[in-house]
Amino acid sequence: MPQTAHVIGAGVIGLATAFELTERGVPGARVTILDPDPASGATHHAGGMLAPAAEVQYRQEPLFPLMLESAARYPSFVDRLHSATPLPTGHRTDGTLVVAGDRADAGHLEDLTRYQHTHGMAVERITVREARRMEPSLSPAIAGAVHIPGDHQVSPRLLVAALRDALTRRGVRFVADEVTNLVRDGAGAVTEVVGERTRHDATGAQVILANGLGAGRVGGWFDETNPLRLRPVYGDILRLGVPAALDPLVSKVIRGFVEDRPVYLIPRDDGTLTLGATSREDIQPKPRLGGVYDLIRDAVALAPGVEETTLLETTVGARPGTPDDLPYLGAVAENLVVSTGYFRHGILLAALGAEAGARLALGESPDVDLRACAPVRHSHL
Ligand SMILES: Cc1cc2nc3c(=O)[nH]c(=O)nc-3n(C[C@H](O)[C@H](O)[C@H](O)COP(=O)(O)OP(=O)(O)OC[C@H]3O[C@@H](n4cnc5c(N)ncnc54)[C@H](O)[C@@H]3O)c2cc1C
Repeated sequence: MPQTAHVIGAGVIGLATAFELTERGVPGARVTILDPDPASGATHHAGGMLAPAAEVQYRQEPLFPLMLESAARYPSFVDRLHSATPLPTGHRTDGTLVVAGDRADAGHLEDLTRYQHTHGMAVERITVREARRMEPSLSPAIAGAVHIPGDHQVSPRLLVAALRDALTRRGVRFVADEVTNLVRDGAGAVTEVVGERTRHDATGAQVILANGLGAGRVGGWFDETNPLRLRPVYGDILRLGVPAALDPLVSKVIRGFVEDRPVYLIPRDDGTLTLGATSREDIQPKPRLGGVYDLIRDAVALAPGVEETTLLETTVGARPGTPDDLPYLGAVAENLVVSTGYFRHGILLAALGAEAGARLALGESPDVDLRACAPVRHSHL
């Protein structure tokens, strides 16, 4: 009998995992995706940088191989998706510039570049003059620059729209319901997926728990307390309109540090710019004025033309954080795979996470070392 799968959550991870299941021969008509409001979570707000080098942070070494491997898989992921839908994904390979606002930021950038080099990442030191030749809108006052040709981008909203279209074309069923509970049999296998309004027989089916922060609220699949230690890390992010006379204001992703605060500008194919993002754990789910002010001031310091743009949107997303910044990805029962906790890197890690999640669900080797991502590793915390 062909495989059947219930995917809980229609953010980038759930959708991409469902896509990889259908790529591996699971008939679309046998895949159900449950989500009360598809693509409304962190994915909707994300910048979409595929930045295994620029996103490097000290003491996150176990993440680096996963980020590099996922970046390497992105072209194939996007190509296969483009064969399944005519919709665009906003995948761009123009590379990334990282610039420093002042001399202290330049020192920080130099240290980071050395660290990236020790981890084998392709990061090129360039002069400010070279950076301004690449991106004439950069301020002459910037104090340092590096070029990262291998850090790319997608438009997360386009990517998930393309995934939803591809899955719909393949016959995948979307159910608008919030999953509350999983029912297990005596051997621990999931037999039923229970939502607020619907119930789904899961006997003999594969269940993938991929609902971001919501995974911490789904009951029934563990013995005592939910082992996932997810927390929201909020990010304020803006969408800007670029006047025709200035378009394009920048042609590749510009990241920067201004007085040690990170900021980025992402040019989109529709002529808009994304300006992001703050990182805060103050449980304030509305845009925080101080954070928005910092973003605008810092972006103007790096590229003064930003002052001429128009403010199209200000939103906040909640990144699904974990105590060690690594995702929760692994099989926790015979027919249950957990795939969440992608924190700051879920768009980048979607290519790897989706393929590994689908392989695990189909009883195959995940083709990547996931020991550091065991979903129950924080149950003692
Ligand atoms: C401001 C910001 C900028 C970011 N920039 C980047 C970036 O540049 N690059 C990058 O790689 N990552 C970035 N990220 C991180 C990235 O957005 C996340 O890691 C990723 O989107 C997580 O995807 P997900 O599918 O796991 O979760 P989500 O996108 O949150 O999706 C979860 C889905 O599950 C559904 N759901 C929740 N509970 C239930 C339930 N009980 N039953 C059914 N469905 C449920 C929700 O409705 C939602 O649709 C950024 C995040 C933010 C907030």
